Amino acid sequence: MIRLIVLFILLLLVLWAGKGILEDLRALLEGGRRKDRRTSLSDELVRDPVCGVYCPKSSAYKLKYKGHTYYFCSEKCREDFLRSS
Ligand SMILES: [Zn+2]
Repeated sequence: MIRLIVLFILLLLVLWAGKGILEDLRALLEGGRRKDRRTSLSDELVRDPVCGVYCPKSSAYKLKYKGHTYYFCSEKCREDFLRSS
C-alpha cells in the first residue's frame, strides 16, 4: 500500500515538473526576450549549432571541443556534432 502512495506522489511530482517545463517553453515561444524573473543572466539563450534551436544555457547540453564551448538542445544533437566533426 505504501508503494502505491509513493508511486502516486512521484507521478504528481513528474506531472508538476512537466507542467513547469511546458510553461517555460510557452513563455520562451511567446515572450522571446521578454524580461522574466526566472530568466537571469546565467539563463541566457544559446544556439544549438546542429539544429539551430535556441535553448537556455542552464539546461543546454555542454561540450568543450577544441577550446570552444558548444551548447546543444539534446544529447542527440551533441552526438551528431561529434560524429560530423
Ligand atoms: Zn538540437
